[in-house]
Amino acid sequence: MHEAAVVDGLIRILVDRAAGAGIARIVSVKVVIGRLRGLDPRQIRGCFEILAEGTVAEGARLDVVAVETAARCRTCGRDYAVPRFRFVCPACGGSDADVTHGRELHVESFEGIGAAADIGTHDDARGHAAP
Ligand SMILES: [Zn+2]
Repeated sequence: MHEAAVVDGLIRILVDRAAGAGIARIVSVKVVIGRLRGLDPRQIRGCFEILAEGTVAEGARLDVVAVETAARCRTCGRDYAVPRFRFVCPACGGSDADVTHGRELHVESFEGIGAAADIGTHDDARGHAAP
């Protein structure tokens, strides 16, 4: 199950960053996932509920932000949205393109409660996961 492996990786990052930021319990998490990853947000949430059990992220609310696929035409430089993996430039019809959006996969932010005091989201608590 692809989703389970992805969620497992995200939770590892969360556990690591929560420890670094002195967070005892994670309340909410925002994850950014590009469409090209082919991941189902519902399955991501389902896996998260199960895999977060027993970790600092147990019971946290998970927001999955989906990023639509977009590309830049190599022929004419036009940026365009890519529906259903069809890389065809609407301006010149060229199919040679660089993906500009859709491969995202990272923890955008999370909020947690510290052991002693409430800790909101700040720079130290943000991170990006390598795919
Ligand atoms: Zn073009």
